[in-house]
Amino acid sequence: MGRKFFVGGNWKMNGNKAGIDGIIAFLKAGPIDPNVDVVVGCPAIYLDYARQQCPDNVQVAAQNAYKVPSGAFTGEISPAMIADIGLQWVILGHSERRAIFGESDELVAEKTKHALDAGLKVIACIGETLAEREAGQTEAVVFRQTAAIAAKITDWTNVVLAYEPVWAIGTGKTASPQQAQEVHAKLREWLKEKVSPEVSDSLRIIYGGSVTAGNAKELGQEGDIDGFLVGGASLKPDFIQIINAKQ
Ligand code: PEP
Repeated sequence: MGRKFFVGGNWKMNGNKAGIDGIIAFLKAGPIDPNVDVVVGCPAIYLDYARQQCPDNVQVAAQNAYKVPSGAFTGEISPAMIADIGLQWVILGHSERRAIFGESDELVAEKTKHALDAGLKVIACIGETLAEREAGQTEAVVFRQTAAIAAKITDWTNVVLAYEPVWAIGTGKTASPQQAQEVHAKLREWLKEKVSPEVSDSLRIIYGGSVTAGNAKELGQEGDIDGFLVGGASLKPDFIQIINAKQ
């Protein structure tokens, strides 16, 4: 085991320079548990600004990147550009990218492969909708989404898998620790069988969906939950308590 706890923040399309200054002030004040990897997903236009301000114990991630290094893709940014400004991380396949911008499993997998090949680390997001959960499709959906990525990559060292049930994102409805643990454990079984026992043991699988300072400790106690991806609460000083949930 020995998987280092990982807490990502996802600012989504929120904030401005003044707001980022405020977030960075509480990140600097911390204190941040040194046993946790902390990465915050920032809107593309502010990536370099956030990188310059963030303390050394907080990495900045892009929230999206395209599947090629450059070219006629108006409005997109590439992993090469993210690396060029000195960043190491990108969030890919967030449910908002999948649902609102129509990103398919295949495209998310292609983006993941390209970002890894370009030297970035990837927070790859998966998760079922409420209708899929109610239809008993949760496992089938998260296995299908993970399989698309597994078909394209062999080295999972620089991947963090974020299980984010869509019905829990931004809704205030958190998966119970048992519900989240159950899916994480199933994913680990799937990885053991379909990828390798080593990847199953070492891959960090984090949970996202209405994580707050109030529920993080309990969620973090589950054996297969290796951290969180946090949306709304990552904009507030409470984020520090979530980062330190294992203390
Ligand atoms: C997210 O955006 O990935 C997320 C989990 O959002 P929230 O924490 O607001 O539910």
